[in-house]
Amino acid sequence: MNLILGGGIAGLLLASSKKDSMVIESQNKVGGIFSYEDIGEFSIPLYPPLTARKCDLFSQFSYKEVELNVISRKENYLLEKLGVSNLPEWLVFNEKMYYIDNLRLVLDSLSKTTRVRLSTTFMYKGGKRVILSNGEVIKADEIYVTVPSYLLNIKKGRSIGFLEAVFFVNKSDRAENTVIVDGDKGVTFSHVILASWMNNSYDIVYVLIPFSMKIPSWDRVYGDLKRKNILKKEDIISFRYRVIKDAILERDQDEKLKEEKEDIHFCGRLGKWRNFTICETINDILHC
Ligand SMILES: Cc1cc2nc3c(=O)[nH]c(=O)nc-3n(C[C@H](O)[C@H](O)[C@H](O)COP(=O)(O)OP(=O)(O)OC[C@H]3O[C@@H](n4cnc5c(N)ncnc54)[C@H](O)[C@@H]3O)c2cc1C
Repeated sequence: MNLILGGGIAGLLLASSKKDSMVIESQNKVGGIFSYEDIGEFSIPLYPPLTARKCDLFSQFSYKEVELNVISRKENYLLEKLGVSNLPEWLVFNEKMYYIDNLRLVLDSLSKTTRVRLSTTFMYKGGKRVILSNGEVIKADEIYVTVPSYLLNIKKGRSIGFLEAVFFVNKSDRAENTVIVDGDKGVTFSHVILASWMNNSYDIVYVLIPFSMKIPSWDRVYGDLKRKNILKKEDIISFRYRVIKDAILERDQDEKLKEEKEDIHFCGRLGKWRNFTICETINDILHC
């Protein structure tokens, strides 16, 4: 049996491409960064899947072209604020982007064809054996790791986390289809996406707040959103929060990868510890 750790798009694609596979996922839903949440009658992605170009090796996506108004403040300080040496490609916003508008359908159809087991933690015991949180031991023929490699005691670098908020707000005179990039260290958030294209009745506002050690307080975040005229607490109809612990990945320079050890396969952004875009993730999976 092929055991696949992680049920993001990488894990699901791997599972669908291999016979007799099982996915182990720690959350109660699949999709990873792009998992979906139902708010009222709407299903929205917890992060909007945007790409600069269409994924050439994957034909199942359908795209909506989105024209973005990108507003940058103190952009020269952004890398310092994030604490990284380079920006991931997925955090660079062009005036014209493609929004993958059928990702939920793709994730649903991939997850229907595979066994997914929920296990909040797992322990790797060597010899291709994994212990799940209920104590069950699974012995696999092959193990594919799409979760952080440090969970198998292989450290490939460090990471910057994002606290993420998704707000469902009434449409108003706020700017449409806008991305605000803020490099000012005095402001908690670094990116705001006003995704008006996603819903005809409501605006969906995504806010990314970087952190390395301490997570900023929500009072400060709300204070900044109000001060910068983005939204007020009263505008919010519904919201979701999540902590993405390993969002931007920084690889160690002199790392000696032990990837071949015990024939474990490391795939996707977390397995390889690279800031892949969704298209790069798909390409990586095809060769993993
Ligand atoms: C905040 C953010 C926004 C992004 N936006 C874009 C974008 O707009 N466009 C783009 O092209 N790319 C974007 N990317 C990159 C893109 O998300 C990826 O390349 C691709 O979607 C990653 O898929 P994945 O399955 O490898 O990883 P993930 O989606 O991170 O999935 C990993 C999975 O492993 C699970 N997991 C973690 N720990 C455990 C554990 N201990 N046990 C079991 N399961 C575990 C997680 O719950 C998750 O389901 C973004 C990345 C981030 C971090």
